[in-house]
Amino acid sequence: MKPLDKRLKFGLNILKKPYIVSNLGALPTIDGRVVSSWEIFWYMTAALFKFPGIFDFRVDVSIRGMTELQYLILSVPERIETMRQRGLKIVGKWSVNPTDLYFGSGVVALDPFFFAFCRMLALGDNALAIRGRAYLSPDACPAQAAAYALFYEGGAKLDLFYPFVGPWCYDSQYCYEALRSKYKGFFGESPCISSDRQKNLSLEFMLSEVRSFLEKIAAETGKPVDTEKLRREFIRENKIRDVTRKIQALMLEDCIPLGSLDLIMATFISGDWLCDPAACLAAMERIYESLRERVRKGQRGWGVADDPVRILVTGIAWGDLGLYNVMDDMGGVLAGTECVMNNYQEDIPTIGDPVQIMAERFINTPYTFGAVQKALWTLSNIKRMGRVDGVVFNCNFGCNYNAAAARIVTDTIKEHMDIPILLVDSDLPGENRGQMRTRFGAFFEMIRKRKGRK
Ligand code: SF4
Repeated sequence: MKPLDKRLKFGLNILKKPYIVSNLGALPTIDGRVVSSWEIFWYMTAALFKFPGIFDFRVDVSIRGMTELQYLILSVPERIETMRQRGLKIVGKWSVNPTDLYFGSGVVALDPFFFAFCRMLALGDNALAIRGRAYLSPDACPAQAAAYALFYEGGAKLDLFYPFVGPWCYDSQYCYEALRSKYKGFFGESPCISSDRQKNLSLEFMLSEVRSFLEKIAAETGKPVDTEKLRREFIRENKIRDVTRKIQALMLEDCIPLGSLDLIMATFISGDWLCDPAACLAAMERIYESLRERVRKGQRGWGVADDPVRILVTGIAWGDLGLYNVMDDMGGVLAGTECVMNNYQEDIPTIGDPVQIMAERFINTPYTFGAVQKALWTLSNIKRMGRVDGVVFNCNFGCNYNAAAARIVTDTIKEHMDIPILLVDSDLPGENRGQMRTRFGAFFEMIRKRKGRK
């Protein structure tokens, strides 16, 4: 679509529900401030000029709380700068690492890969990933490449990096290691396990890794980490997990109250709470209340077809967000995602030693499971959800981990369950929409035929 047509389409959407201050709610922040509805209103108005990439998307702004969530997604650079000026340290993590450990230790968790990918989408320009590949490797995954360019060139800054990485992603270790010329950093390790004996050894190992993290962060901030503060953080973040799961569960209602892109923003994109769990919780609670009201009134989300094909996306959710609109336009809808940003899938226990709880969380994170165990986990999710018509397994270009696991996971699912599965690859935003349209079209048609639909 031509840029002018995109703007026109976007403008027509916005006219359906213009930004009005009284429709917006203030957001509390982790450093004790409140972002007023006026601030959000002005930021989002300026965003229409600053971020041409947003014209590519159809977001349902008539969902209350959705504009506040968009504000949180777009304003990360300004907000982390304010937090830094107020004495908070911004610490780079890896996507799957539980945010509770960081926020509970008094620092702000930032996933550079995700953050950089969102920058590219907002600007509607893939130059960051292209430059990043020139620095790192032509087959670096797009998220790693974009992050490297952004943080190496100084487009955004970290105070420290402390990711926990395992053998599943080998780009991120290299990417962080290469950033050492710019930032001080440490690595925690997170093992892959495949037997009970290994589980015990891994737990011991993880305990020492978590303790070491807490000591080093205390040395950096000058404040010892209080385990009670950690526990309080578990409680706060469990509330966000709970509301996120409730939003995802609404996709299984007869009347689906939000489109696929809106769901991905409220689950995947906000999956590490956008650098502020307090603000994120307030926006998500508003979204959930608005959606419940829609279900009560029988109102479908913008763009959701009548009786759509419900799809679970696994592997890694694709970062080309426009594809979620394409999916809806073709009569599909996202029933849920299982991905690297799966912090919300299960609560963190609040009873017991917080350090032990964190160590257990690391070794029980589904993204780090072996391929067969991962497939069995996906199977249990499909059964629990009950209304999934098909599964799409997506690999990011350059991601050897997902590419290697894909066939084993999909074959194992097919062995246990008669459900259609599509395997796809994705790379930079906007690059292979035509090919995806063809594949979605054939896949959805096959599912409809199987279900005896017209
Ligand atoms: S998509 Fe693959 S290579 Fe990229 S960050 Fe995730 S695990 Fe690593």
